[in-house]
Amino acid sequence: MSRAFNFSPGPATLPEPVLRQAQAEMLEWNGVGASIVEVSHRGPEFIEVARQAEADLRTLMSIPDDYAVLFLQGGATAQQALMALNFAAPGQTVDYVVTGHWGKTAIKQARPYVDVNIAADSEAGGFRDIPARDDWRLSKDAAYVHYTANETIHGVEFRDIPQVDNAPLFADFSSSIAAEPLDVSRFGMIYAGAQKNLGPVGVTVVIVRRDLFERAGQPRADIFNYQSHANGDSMLNTPPTWNWYLAGLMFKWMLAEGGVTEFARRNARKAALLYDTIDGSGGFYRNEVAHAARSRMNVPFFLRDAALDAAFLKEAGTAGLISLKGHRVLGGMRASIYNAMPEEGVQALASFMRDFQSRYG
Ligand code: PMP
Repeated sequence: MSRAFNFSPGPATLPEPVLRQAQAEMLEWNGVGASIVEVSHRGPEFIEVARQAEADLRTLMSIPDDYAVLFLQGGATAQQALMALNFAAPGQTVDYVVTGHWGKTAIKQARPYVDVNIAADSEAGGFRDIPARDDWRLSKDAAYVHYTANETIHGVEFRDIPQVDNAPLFADFSSSIAAEPLDVSRFGMIYAGAQKNLGPVGVTVVIVRRDLFERAGQPRADIFNYQSHANGDSMLNTPPTWNWYLAGLMFKWMLAEGGVTEFARRNARKAALLYDTIDGSGGFYRNEVAHAARSRMNVPFFLRDAALDAAFLKEAGTAGLISLKGHRVLGGMRASIYNAMPEEGVQALASFMRDFQSRYG
């Protein structure tokens, strides 16, 4: 068996100890005579797994008690519709700041229910920067302000939480949750599909300030009601038990490694090494994002000569570096370097890039 360094944007690489533990427990979990995926979600075994996962995530992210933590299905995309249904009145204005592809999908999901005001949008500049806060045109009576903390495709990341005073701040943290310490109390809602920094696809973490549940929102079925999910401990219906269990293993692993403070250090070193390699290549490689907005999780880059792309990907694969092809929206390459990507993986990529340049540059 040989595991490559996997730079996939999501589903993404998982730490080997997490996979090994899941493997060891696959046939039989903790003396129950069955796998954890084979027992009822309402039984004491899974209830304990679920409870522990939530407790560990609360510890990992320092989530205050007045926030509910939900483990839901539907991915980040479903939450982009549900936030409007739950927290905005029909046709109410909501503010969106768009800094890449996923900010646009968020708007698409909300539009059937609300009046979207695009407060700021960097598309005209090719999504290479974050619009200056002073230029945002926020509404007076918005139900919430939404932004994408890290744009997974365009590689654009907010380094600071923007200050907004008109409405609660809602943020898509799908590709940067738990990558560094975060003041959760600054937000009304944070959501993230787990398949990048938190582990497996199939479970979505939603963190909501509980007082927002008092809003009437819009007519919706119980299954689309966050308050009902909170009241039912995210078990209104059968939850994705395997994914929830795996995410729980990820939380334990992250805590054991030193938590978000340690990951912030590692992530900063990994990103710096990659950007230095790109910037120091004399234009052989290039990343076009403004330095202050460069993502520490997803590093898109282009080769000067796109005709070399195929050779780059092929030789990288041979060197044990996989999933580097950029998203079809942008082309080029992208290295996703979430918490589970070890520093040795990024060192291997950087030295491969230098070696490739020395042969083709
Ligand atoms: N937001 C961001 C920032 C993403 O990266 C993604 C997935 N790549 C999504 C939303 C969509 O997530 P999902 O597929 O879980 O619905």
